[in-house]
Amino acid sequence: MNTPPVYQQASFLLSAAKLDQLPTDEGIEVAFVGRSNAGKSTVLNRITGQKRLARTSKTPGRTQLINVFQLDADRRLIDLPGYGYAKAPLTLKKQWQYTLTRYLQTRQCLRGLVLLMDIRHPLKGSDQTMLQWAIESQLSTHILLNKADKLKRMQITKTLKAVNEYIAPYSNLISVQCFSALKHSGEDELYAVLNEWFKSE
Ligand code: GDP
Repeated sequence: MNTPPVYQQASFLLSAAKLDQLPTDEGIEVAFVGRSNAGKSTVLNRITGQKRLARTSKTPGRTQLINVFQLDADRRLIDLPGYGYAKAPLTLKKQWQYTLTRYLQTRQCLRGLVLLMDIRHPLKGSDQTMLQWAIESQLSTHILLNKADKLKRMQITKTLKAVNEYIAPYSNLISVQCFSALKHSGEDELYAVLNEWFKSE
């Protein structure tokens, strides 16, 4: 589908190492998070229709930062540091965890979280921790099972069912869908969720 104009407008605003470097806590933010390699940069590029938008996040030294993309004066997409990268030193992992938790727990303008997973490896320990934080903070979360093109239809259905069962007790807060950044599938469903979150009251 065509990229809705507001997402096409996305532009890199800043990278923040600490929460106090973020824009004033006003307007609406939707954050993207997930294990490294789940496809977060590819998905951000895909939904904004920009090939290189999230390349910024891949710049060495910026992978541990919170990257902020502005849609308009009031709305921002937030690219949170990827987690679960096995090679990262423990101190770095602790620091990411601290920044992530603090952001998720304190950011007032955070309206929703898109939690990316590789559909072939859903609900890893770190994903479950992330969901736990979201539940504790009563933060609406949409799970994106990315790379659906890597699985056969039956496997997709099975995985979606398993994840749906896992989140069933929190269905008021957590939702899930399949997605393929490569094949452009699942875009309508994702835009519907984002549009709802970005709607001003
Ligand atoms: P990040 O670390 O989460 O930002 O992940 P990247 O966006 O860099 O993607 C990691 C790898 O997965 C890259 O080689 C992407 O081309 C690939 N990838 C991302 N999305 C998809 C998808 O939907 N399908 C497939 N097959 N590969 C994907």
